[in-house]
Amino acid sequence: MELNRTTPAVTNIVLLGGGHAHVEVLRQFGMNRVPEVNLTLLSSQTHTAYSGMLPGYLARHYSYAESHLDLLPLSQFAGAQFYRDRVVGLDLARRRILCARRSPVAFDLLSINTGSTPRMAAALGAERYAIPIKPVESFLRRWAEIERELSGAGRRPVRFLIVGGGAGGVELSLSLQHRLQRRWPERFETGNSFRFAVAAASPEIMPTHNVRVRHRFRELLAVRGIELFAASRVVRVEPDRAVDDQGRTHRFDYLFWVTEAAAPKWLREAGLEVDKQGFAVVDDRLRSVSHPEIFAAGDVASFQSRRCPKSGVYAVRQGGILARNLRYAAGNEPLVAYRPQRKFLSLISTGTQHAVASRGRWAVQGRWVWRLKDWIDRRWMRRYRQLPAMREEDESHRAGQDAEGEIVPTMRCAGCGAKIGRRALTNVLGRLPNRSDRSIAVGLEVPDDAAVFSVRRDASLVQSVDHLPSFINDPYLFGQIAAVHCLSDILAMGAEPHSAQIVAVVPFGREAVVEELLFQTLSGAARTLDEHQTALIGGHSSEGERLALGMTINGLLRQRLPWRKGNLRPDDRLILTKPLGSGILLAAFMRRRCPGRWLDGAIEQMVRSHASAVPVLRNYGAEGVTDCTGFGLIGHLAELIEASGVDAALDIDRVPIMEGAASCAERGIVSSLYPQNLQREATIVNCEEYRRHPHYPALFDPQTSGGLLFGIGENRAAACLRELRKIGWDGAAAIGAVTKPAGRNPRLYLR
Ligand SMILES: Cc1cc2nc3c(=O)[nH]c(=O)nc-3n(C[C@H](O)[C@H](O)[C@H](O)COP(=O)(O)OP(=O)(O)OC[C@H]3O[C@@H](n4cnc5c(N)ncnc54)[C@H](O)[C@@H]3O)c2cc1C
Repeated sequence: MELNRTTPAVTNIVLLGGGHAHVEVLRQFGMNRVPEVNLTLLSSQTHTAYSGMLPGYLARHYSYAESHLDLLPLSQFAGAQFYRDRVVGLDLARRRILCARRSPVAFDLLSINTGSTPRMAAALGAERYAIPIKPVESFLRRWAEIERELSGAGRRPVRFLIVGGGAGGVELSLSLQHRLQRRWPERFETGNSFRFAVAAASPEIMPTHNVRVRHRFRELLAVRGIELFAASRVVRVEPDRAVDDQGRTHRFDYLFWVTEAAAPKWLREAGLEVDKQGFAVVDDRLRSVSHPEIFAAGDVASFQSRRCPKSGVYAVRQGGILARNLRYAAGNEPLVAYRPQRKFLSLISTGTQHAVASRGRWAVQGRWVWRLKDWIDRRWMRRYRQLPAMREEDESHRAGQDAEGEIVPTMRCAGCGAKIGRRALTNVLGRLPNRSDRSIAVGLEVPDDAAVFSVRRDASLVQSVDHLPSFINDPYLFGQIAAVHCLSDILAMGAEPHSAQIVAVVPFGREAVVEELLFQTLSGAARTLDEHQTALIGGHSSEGERLALGMTINGLLRQRLPWRKGNLRPDDRLILTKPLGSGILLAAFMRRRCPGRWLDGAIEQMVRSHASAVPVLRNYGAEGVTDCTGFGLIGHLAELIEASGVDAALDIDRVPIMEGAASCAERGIVSSLYPQNLQREATIVNCEEYRRHPHYPALFDPQTSGGLLFGIGENRAAACLRELRKIGWDGAAAIGAVTKPAGRNPRLYLR
């Protein structure tokens, strides 16, 4: 992410797809940063499958994490933004990429490495009834469903048909069979519970391999009881059968499609020069023959002067040349040529931990071949996992102490973790003059989530301001989350958002680069504002070192009193709508210690607006509502009980926590605001007993776009929670209760 830069960027390079070639491009840009380049990776998934290990993953020899690369730390290493989205088109005249879920993304140079999908169009009904092996993530989702269906299928025979007799189809049948055999051995003992068959269009299976390899796999299919339909080109698919060009019918319960590769439609539709199959035609510099600003590699590319098999091996080899050529093209230097290897070694697994090696006319097999393959594949994965550490990484995640013994973390956090600590802020506000006015119903005298002042007899204006430095490497998503966060103050007062003004700070760069970054950020924010029927009515922008967004939101309260912090009553139940831990995970992300799926989980929570929850809270008579943000759960709960003059008990085991947060905190990774928030520990009577509880650090974690925290009558709490969960607030939980005050100072108890 270079959303934080001191050197102006001049060229926008976008890498489309996290394929085998692009992971190498990212690694190379990470090893040798080019400050003038603003690099972005746009890919449909955070984790990309490594083709060499996919059959091993399906056969359960590898875990998901072992066989997939996490693109998030890799793009951080490269200093690249990472947009998780699916490309649906290209506007080449304007140099823009059209995406499924966000505004178009502009580029100066574009590199495409989005792979291929099996060709289904030639067989009638295939798109409807067959399950394609690619995109891999969709296949894996479908396979997980199939396993659930099989769990409940009793012992009735289940037929799997694999269409495609190449190495991919044969490996898939052997791997899936092995997987099921390991999971349900008893179903294999009693006969043909699971029947596998492969339909190959050519008379021979694996026609690109030598005769010895073909012979070996024919034998293996026979030994493993996998039926082979050779010279059987499937031309029609019905719900339970496939019909081939000879009129033969193969019945199935599940049909997997692993045929020759097809290209995405959007390449041809964009007007890029493509071959007969629709793949982007490139020269030996991996550059489009029709559009010199576009490069392509891997399955999606087709060479003008030679045939190159659609295989991960080629995509891998192209990565290094592609990285150099993108760098040279950005600097107007001459490009270098890619020379594909004439022969290469294929190591094809047989489902068990055994493999066949194939090269030219040579073939050899054995368990040692599998071990060799395993060693090669793991070594390849290590290249992209064991990246050189960031310098600050190791010394910064633990807080240090200054001369007065005060805790001072060395790496500062962004988002709400960049808030000034409560003590400093309270001290400063106490030193400022406070001008009161009768029209101000809620101001700094009794502060709340937003200020309220009357503008008309029947309505009050509710106003809040917030400012967030960027905390993720996707400006569009940052804009969305920042807007949700800012709107939350208004919603927490029970008001309707009305209008907003924005202050944006964008890192230095060439005008077009700055424009693109500003556009991505503001279009994300504008989309969220629009979803809340909130008009953007003004703002201000400036250049700076780090992307940041501030917003003033105006809301209206019509004939209604605001939800106030001071309205908790003894015996109320306390409900929190979102899990805690975003501050910890964002701190881990900054240190490149946050796996992509944990950050994806945190983002999913942060981008959720409470607009849908507000009517439920109102219907059930919620009171003492606040949004849980920078001061953490304890800080905000302490504000509620202080304002209400009550005590509260918190059920620490019931406090929802985001996946990964407890484990990061255990390793000492916390937000830089954590030490200040921890000062609120003094409110907890029995903190000593709970300091080692795994949820404890999350109680003080600053939340960006955190949950609503509120009190509700004991008799209505369960129904309110049920209603919230019904509309999708799955993470909402009852986390404690309000109790009568035991002394003069409000106290919290953990239990
Ligand atoms: C069962 C099976 C086993 C195989 N085994 C091997 C093997 O052992 N060795 C080998 O060399 N080859 C193997 N192959 C072939 C190999 O999978 C492909 O040749 C290889 O994956 C192509 O790599 P790539 O980099 O071009 O694209 P991919 O690896 O397919 O990567 C494409 C990336 O782009 C992303 N993407 C796709 N579409 C979009 C979109 N519209 N918008 C945004 N992002 C997008 C995807 O999420 C993915 O991250 C196998 C194939 C199959 C089916």
